[in-house]
Amino acid sequence: MVKSVMTVLRYPKDRDGLDRVIVCLIDITEREQTHAALLAAQMELSRAARVSTVGVVSASIAHELHQPLGALTVNAETCLRWLDRDPPNLDAARKAVERMVSDAERASAIVKNTRSLVARRPASVDIIDANVLVRETAALLDHQLRADGILLRVSGSDNPMRVAMARNELQQVIINLVTNAAQAITNARSPRRSIAISLTRPKPGRLRIDVTDTGPGVDEGSLNKLFDPFFTTKPDGMGMGLAISRSAVEARGGRLNAANNGSEPGSCFTVELPLADTDPKTLSFEPEQAPAEDKKDARHA
Ligand code: ADP
Repeated sequence: MVKSVMTVLRYPKDRDGLDRVIVCLIDITEREQTHAALLAAQMELSRAARVSTVGVVSASIAHELHQPLGALTVNAETCLRWLDRDPPNLDAARKAVERMVSDAERASAIVKNTRSLVARRPASVDIIDANVLVRETAALLDHQLRADGILLRVSGSDNPMRVAMARNELQQVIINLVTNAAQAITNARSPRRSIAISLTRPKPGRLRIDVTDTGPGVDEGSLNKLFDPFFTTKPDGMGMGLAISRSAVEARGGRLNAANNGSEPGSCFTVELPLADTDPKTLSFEPEQAPAEDKKDARHA
């Protein structure tokens, strides 16, 4: 067996005493082995972290692309059905193709964003009017929601509500929240089938978007796990939508929280973002509010 040994020589201060030198041999085999094991463990840990980052990124891309590609297929099929009619309904077919163009643009923006993520370039930020963007996004989803017997309402303000965020990021957050709400309503076969999106300014410099549904709500024990990557209660779920949405909102200085609707069944997901047209000094976010306050507000949303 090979041993690692540390040799220590001790010379006396007095030069005359140099005929006597203390030599000490210390067996450091165990210490060296522990050190090597520690290095190996650290390397394994960083490899695992890299693998799990790649896993999370791939799962995010797969999740984000799933929605626009699914919508693209549905709209293409709808378009074919309108064209196959005798006589063909060209107006309806054109509308379906217009929706397909939006779906394809969304998918392409997601891929572009992923490229900038990998290339470590910050995703470009736009100054967008959340009022307009939310309405446009609701219009995109409305077709499918109506087919599922779900009513989507949007209430906001006539004045612009500008936020600094990549357009497709905020759009994706709204799509994730509305899709979840619709799935909750459909899976629970809720008798009341509606989703409400409201845009408000809870205080100066802040935008608040509430997405409230009439589904079964979230099991109290799961409320704090919803935003964990890979947490899902759906048989074919991926558990990435809320994790991605929260990190997108937080990257712009905002917050995303969930609460149940109190006495009414259903849940409310709340996005808060700093408004872009206020003094930058006031844009920093305050510490988390007490959940009770979120719940109270959610009921009034
Ligand atoms: P996925 O939709 O793939 O499950 P998400 O991260 O979007 O992933 O959602 C995680 C979980 O949060 C869902 O599986 C569901 O249990 C819960 N959830 C999300 N939105 C709602 C909602 N509106 N009502 C009830 N539960 C919800």
